Amino acid sequence: MEIFGISIGVDRSVAENALLDVTPEERDRYLAWWRKFKMLDLFNWMGIGLLLASALGSAHHSANEWAKVAWLGFSLFVVTRIWLRVLNCPRCGATYSGGLITALQRFSSLSKCYGCDLSKRGLRALERRGY
Ligand SMILES: [Zn+2]
Repeated sequence: MEIFGISIGVDRSVAENALLDVTPEERDRYLAWWRKFKMLDLFNWMGIGLLLASALGSAHHSANEWAKVAWLGFSLFVVTRIWLRVLNCPRCGATYSGGLITALQRFSSLSKCYGCDLSKRGLRALERRGY
């Protein structure tokens, strides 16, 4: 698709064609890893959600019960955050996030493997394509 001479959708097609050369074993390994990653990411967000809910709730009701919710949310957030950071890449075996060395510089960036550039976009494309 081209608008004003600028081709858009290039990035998308790159992602669609990502990981076309994987073997079935590699694909299964990548997808299993990807499902785990997405699950941890979801729980990570749930932790944030619980923290927000407790912050809102304690403004209106007694803080005691909400403090428990806040602790639960905080624990969930921290545990899943650390877990996500220590996952090993399914392709190159290095720590996907780059490990503790990069924890400060790349705190929120888990978009691709630090070692081999295996990207979440590529994994998403692989999952969608299904082969
Ligand atoms: Zn890697």
